[in-house]
Parts: sequence; C-alpha cells; structure tokens
Amino acid sequence: MQTNHVVVSGGLVLVGRETTARPADIVLDGDTISAIVPAGAAEAPRVVDATGRLIIPGLVNAHTHGHGGLAKGIGDRWSLELLLNAGPWINGGRTSDDRYLSTLLTAVEMIRKGCTACYDLSAMLPVPSIEALHDVARAYADVGMRAVISPMIADRTFYQAIPGLLDAFPPELRPVAEAMRSASAETILAPIREAARTWPYPNDQIRLGIAPTIPLHCSDEFMQACRDLAAEFGLPVQTHLAESAVQRAGAMRRYGMTLTAHLERIGLLGPGFSGAHAIWIDDSEIELIARHGGALAHNPGSNLRLGNGIADMRRAIAGGVTVGVGTDGSSSSDNQNMFEATRLAAYVSRVFDRPPEDWIGTAEALRMATEGSAAVLGMGGLIGRIAPGYKADLVFLDLDHVNLVPLNDAVNQLVNTEDGAAVRDVMIGGRFVLRDGVLPGLDWPSVAARAREAAVRLRGANTGVRQAAERLAPVVSHFCVGLGRCAHDLPRKLSAEAVVPAAVAGGL
Ligand SMILES: [Zn+2]
Repeated sequence: MQTNHVVVSGGLVLVGRETTARPADIVLDGDTISAIVPAGAAEAPRVVDATGRLIIPGLVNAHTHGHGGLAKGIGDRWSLELLLNAGPWINGGRTSDDRYLSTLLTAVEMIRKGCTACYDLSAMLPVPSIEALHDVARAYADVGMRAVISPMIADRTFYQAIPGLLDAFPPELRPVAEAMRSASAETILAPIREAARTWPYPNDQIRLGIAPTIPLHCSDEFMQACRDLAAEFGLPVQTHLAESAVQRAGAMRRYGMTLTAHLERIGLLGPGFSGAHAIWIDDSEIELIARHGGALAHNPGSNLRLGNGIADMRRAIAGGVTVGVGTDGSSSSDNQNMFEATRLAAYVSRVFDRPPEDWIGTAEALRMATEGSAAVLGMGGLIGRIAPGYKADLVFLDLDHVNLVPLNDAVNQLVNTEDGAAVRDVMIGGRFVLRDGVLPGLDWPSVAARAREAAVRLRGANTGVRQAAERLAPVVSHFCVGLGRCAHDLPRKLSAEAVVPAAVAGGL
C-alpha cells in the first residue's frame, strides 16, 4: 500500500449502486477512491476510524442560488412572478462582502446537511463583473465545496419579459416598471468571457458556467451569444425552463412554440444543457431534451412553495432524460436541505394517478440526488457514487442518531427519515470539510454577525426599491394568474373551485 493512501475503516457503506449498506473499508488515493475492500482487509499509513457511521456519497444539489443565503424567510405567499418582482429589493444593493457572505451561508448549510457539490445560478443583474464571480467562487473555495458557478443574466427586465405585462399597468405605475434597466449582450458577456479566459480553479472543483436566466427574459440574439460563449469555453448552460404556467403561456404568445422548441431553434440544447424546474413541459419537449442529451434539475420544494405545480419527472425519466434534484435558492425554498428535496422528489411523484410501481422510490430518488445531479453539473462519472475512480466525496452519518435507530433499511431511512441532523462528518476530495459537526477554519460567530449586520443594512438601503415593487405587485399577480391559466392544458396543478373571499379572509 502506497504512503499517500488512506483507509476509511469500520463504517457501514452504501457502495456503488447497491441498495443496502454493508461493512466495508474505503481506500483513498489522494482525492480519489481507489478501492472498496471487505471490512478490515486494508492497511494504510493513515486510518480514518468510521466506527458507528453510515457512509454515503455526498448529495449533489443540481440547482440553487447562493445569493439566496441572505434572503431566507423573506416573503410567503409569493408566486414565482411575485418573487421576480421582489428580486431587486431582496437581492439588490449588495457589496462584494455581501455576495461572499450570502454564498458562504448557502455553502455552509449545504455541507452541514450532507451536500458536497452544487450548481449555483448566481444573480448578477443587470451586469456581472469578474469581481462578483470571484466573490462567489471564493466562498466555495474557502469551505472546500465543489460548485458550478453560473452567472444568472438577461438582457430584458422581468416587466419586458412577460408578453403584455407592461401594458397591464395603469399609466401612473407603468413608468415605475419601465425604470428598471437591463444591459446589452456585449456589456453583460464581456466580463464572463474574461472570467472564462482567466478562471483559476480546476474544472472538477469550481467550474464556471453560464445561465441565461429565463428564456423569455433573453432576446434571441442574447441567447445565441450565450450559446457561442459556452461553446468557445466549454461552459455548461442552465436556464429556468418552464418553471411556471406563465412561462409556457408566454412562450406560446411570443414564439408561437414551446420554450424547449424555441431553445432548440436557437441551438442551445446539447449535452452541456440543463433546464431547472421543467414543470410546464410536454412530451414533445421531453423528446427534444432527450435527443440532445440535455438534463433536468427537479426542485420539488421550491415548486410547491411558489405554487408552480408538480413536475412530472417520471414522464421525463421514462422519456430518456437524466434528472437531478435541487433545492433552489433560499429565497424560494427556504433552506438548502438536500435530504428534504430528495424526499419531496419521491413524494410528489405519487400525486399523479399511476400505480405504485411507477412512483419514484427511495433508491431511485437517492440516485437522482447523487449521480443524476452530478450529470447536471457535468461531473458524471466523477462524483455521486462510492466506487473506485470516483472522487472521495463522503458523508458520515451517526448510526446512534435517532433518525437511524433502529436501522431497518438504510436507503429508505436516508430518503424518508433523515433530515440532515445525523450528519457528523463530510469529506470532499479526501479532505474533511465538516469534522464532528464543525467546519474547520470557519469563524462561524464572525460570519453570523456579519450576515446579521448585512441583512439589517440591506433592508434599510433597499426600502425605496421595495416600495416600488410593492406598488407593482397586485398588477403583476393578477395579470400573471390570468396568463398562466392559458397553459393549463397540462395537468400540473389540481383544478379547484374558486374560494369565496369571506372564507379566505376568515382563514388569515
Ligand atoms: Zn432557480
């Protein structure tokens, strides 16, 4: 055995694609798993004692927003469109340190809850900067987490994006909506090009991507420029695809075709493409995504919170599409708990009128949240499995924690019981980033104090923007509810009779 080898010994391990955990030793060679051997069979200069631990592959978050870390808990009965309307005040006016802190909070929460890699669509509206990209990257680097960092960009404002919305405002409000500004493709993409040219991090650790945020928010020319930049530097592309009924209806109105058909026409679909949410897509769109080797990120918690409906991922999987699981950002989920997201991925598959054998089961849900999400990040075959050749991204759960006592079925309990509370240690690339519940090198009291100060300061600084958004909100809500109904050809929401206003008021 070579001197740089380490053996993780004494644990109960979820090996490869097996559906039961068994005693095994994991041999590491640097940052990679080199062998799985029977318990006690390996010797190495360094042994990590994993007695009393259940060891699973790190969960992979296929869709989040680091900028949501400072915005958790803001807003309640917000549709996606009301959230986008509020975006300028919940994410606006941030300094370099605010961006870093918000991402750091998101990363810390993910690690604490057993997640070792993520796809972060970081808000950089109206114009990204190299400095901002590095603020975000530094947060992940400082805690040792893998990430794809994709600047979330658009050349239209939300109000320009939804066909007919600007015209719906009364004359006194329209100038408020029109005061929001976007920028040109050249201005937006220049700093991303420069960042891609000079990106200092290895691709398997912190990778740069690109995220034209929502197709309706992007002109065709802008999308084409994103496509060309992605091709030039090999950047993965992710967009919010048909997240709401409004987006499906808006696409029909603007393009005369589905969103996915529009993306194919632009040339954006391909193996490096992933769509987040994909609630309001039909079979023809599933076929297009599968044919081009694209993938989807399923965010069931966010979809429920924003009232967007239920994504039918069984249908997408049956159509040959790779599906990962995501939490979405903390401004719409409002946590970074991949155990919870994985559980919801299994549960929401059961609301469709199909027999139990068509439901997403626990083993499949866990594979989606590991290997499936890894594929979304462009890290398939590298992370998401405990097997030789894969990176040593391991989560150690305490077998004495009440969640795992008694251990009747490890996979069922990981998905149906676990909430992250049993996570004791997390290893990424062979290095402990969480050890006995503590993130080494992180001064948490200082981070927490800075985050509290930032939240208070930003709330004050964004008061005017907030008031403007609140004036626009009733029109946005009313118009979008109406437009969204045009897409209800797909069964993604339960139909319901109108509730009499008095009953609503009485329930508050
Ligand atoms: Zn999102």
